[in-house]
Order: sequence, then C-alpha cells, then structure tokens
Amino acid sequence: MAPYRTFRNTLSPMMDSSASASASSSPQDDLSYWMERCSICFDARLDLCLDHCRDQYCYDCFQRYVTEVVTSSWGLTVKKIKCPVCQVHISQSEWSKYVPDAIVDLYNKFNRPFRSFARCCPHCETEVVACEYTRNKTFFYHRSNLIHEMIVDLLSSSPLCEQRKQHPYADIQDLLKIYEHQNWRNSTLPALHERTITTLLDFVTHHVPGLSLTPKVYAISRQILLLEMKSETWKRLQFSHISFFPNVECTNTSCRARFCLQCGYDAHPDRTCEEKMQQMIDERQSSDEDPIMWKLKHSKQCPGCSILITRDEGCNKVDCSLCGYSFCWACLSSWSENCGFYRCTVTGWTANQDRADAKTELGVPNISYIQSKLSSHVI
Ligand SMILES: [Zn+2]
Ligand SMILES: [Zn+2]
Ligand SMILES: [Zn+2]
Ligand SMILES: [Zn+2]
Ligand SMILES: [Zn+2]
Ligand SMILES: [Zn+2]
Repeated sequence: MAPYRTFRNTLSPMMDSSASASASSSPQDDLSYWMERCSICFDARLDLCLDHCRDQYCYDCFQRYVTEVVTSSWGLTVKKIKCPVCQVHISQSEWSKYVPDAIVDLYNKFNRPFRSFARCCPHCETEVVACEYTRNKTFFYHRSNLIHEMIVDLLSSSPLCEQRKQHPYADIQDLLKIYEHQNWRNSTLPALHERTITTLLDFVTHHVPGLSLTPKVYAISRQILLLEMKSETWKRLQFSHISFFPNVECTNTSCRARFCLQCGYDAHPDRTCEEKMQQMIDERQSSDEDPIMWKLKHSKQCPGCSILITRDEGCNKVDCSLCGYSFCWACLSSWSENCGFYRCTVTGWTANQDRADAKTELGVPNISYIQSKLSSHVI
C-alpha cells in the first residue's frame, strides 16, 4: 500500500470531522476508501500500482496521461515518462504494460536516436530535413580525410591560396591539421564544428567575395556533423548547423522553394526571422488579427537551438520541446529560479500569472476539486 502523502493527510482530518458530525457513516468516511482510489481522478478504484513509488492509478487516467506525454514529445529530446504524482522516472518496460501498443510505437518513433529536425515547406507542405544521419562505418574512417580534402578544394578555388602565412589562412592551416591527423576526437565536436564553420565562412565572405563558395562550406558543415557518434551530441550539432545555414531548398522537384528552417517562412538571407515577419506584416498592411502579427508577438528564438518557438501563456520558465534547453522567456538566459517564475529579476518582466494558474497541469491532483467534493459530502 502506498505511504500517506501530503494531500491525503490533508483529507483525513476533514473526514474525521464529518464522521463525528453524522452518525451514519458512508464508505467515503473511511480512509481506506480513499487509499484505494486512483491518485488522479479519485473516482475510480486503483487498477495499477507503480513498482518503485507505489503511486496508484486507474487504467483510464494512466493511459490518458502517458498518451498526452507521448504525443507532445515530438521534439528531438529523449522523453522520459515520469510518475504524474511524484515525478519518479518509470521504466519503459513498466509503463508500456498499461498502455495500447500504438502509444508504445509512437513513443519509439519519436524517441529513436539520431532523429532529424524537419519542417514543412510553406508552399507545398513537403517535409524537409536539416540533415540526415547516415552511419556507415567504412565511410566513417575516411570522413575526416574527406573533410580535409574538401577544405583544400575550397582553398584552391581562392586566389589567396598562395599567401599561406596571412590571416585567416593560418587559422585554416590549424584546422587542416586537425582533420588530416584525425585528432578531432580530442576536442569536443560541437566546438570544432563552430570553429571550422566560423573560420571558413569568414574566409569566403571577407577574403574571396564574389566567388559564392558558401555552398562548399555548407557541404563541409554537413560532413562534420556525420563524424559524431552520440545521438545527444548529434542533435546539438544539427542545431548548430541550422544556426549557420537556416535556409534550405524544398526537396520537391516541382517546387524547389527556398525557406527558413528557423521560422518556416520564405528564405530571408539578409534579415532575422523577426525582421522577415515584420516585413511580411508591412507588405500586407493587415489588421491585428493577422496570424503573423500574433506569431511575431509571441515568438522568440530558443537560445539552445536557434529555432523560433511560439508561446501563448505560462510562467517565465520555458523548456524547449525541440532541444530540451530550459531558459527564462523574459531574459533568455539559462533557467535558474533566481530569475523568478512570474517576475524576471533581470528584466522586471512579469508573466501573466492569472492565465497560467487557470490551467490545471495534467496529472497533478486537483486539491480544490477534491475538497469541494468532500465538503459537499459533509453537508
Ligand atoms: Zn483515474
Ligand atoms: Zn509516484
Ligand atoms: Zn516546396
Ligand atoms: Zn527565419
Ligand atoms: Zn530549443
Ligand atoms: Zn530572466
């Protein structure tokens, strides 16, 4: 039997007083009646009791809870199913016993390793991925050499090739050595990726302008991503790649539109996503009802993955469902409770507390509902 929990201790004195007020006792007066109820709805008798924490639920509530968590876990972080009352991690072998196979399949689909970030083309709805992970062992060992060759090829298309001692060429020489000697394992790949792409983009835009060598840097970026062996790090690298190259071409051959993976609108090479949306609003000269205006007002770029995320209501703490990064919506710094759930101490920005409170979190026992049921019973 589950140990007494805080809210059940809250209930017991109320039940005692009701028992003394009335001589006729009903099953609800008995504490053991409540101890056998589902911890979510309190209406049904328990059907299952979790192995580790001993919290208990009816099948209906537990299935509804798991389904809700699974269907909202389409982001790229691996979602763990936790007990809705005490938040202890429930193993997949346990929770999958109580839910339909379709939900388990959906969970496995959403949580398979090396998933790619995808967005639908704004013109034809074709799903376009940022980068596909291909794990090919034989190719893998040659990949570092391949990147080395790609950088050499990039440099050979530049007239600066002969001026070896000059900046930024010296930086690129360092990079070449890393890939040539395959000692990229010694550094963390995200840092190496950032350094390589920043250096190469700086080189092609400032030192060889007019040659449009950016597609070559783009190809190098994708190859560096494929050096990564760990799914979690690959996810981070993927977002790093998107932040350098947000614009992609639609893979539908009859469309070929270029669009932005960060905001989902048409490609905007010289503008930020916010500037692009503002431009669209200005061109349409539309009213306040415009969905783009609404989106612009309620969206920010996640500091973890650079994707524009939209939020309607809630406290300042935001957990990005794409990359898993927790941050303060007001000041965009990494989340700490010092920032304040409802009033960010950095910016002084206040979240709309009333609306956030109006919504009861799924799976958290609704104490006021339980108490209202109890008091109606007492009368
Ligand atoms: Zn229930
Ligand atoms: Zn629990
Ligand atoms: Zn398209
Ligand atoms: Zn954009
Ligand atoms: Zn994110
Ligand atoms: Zn803050």
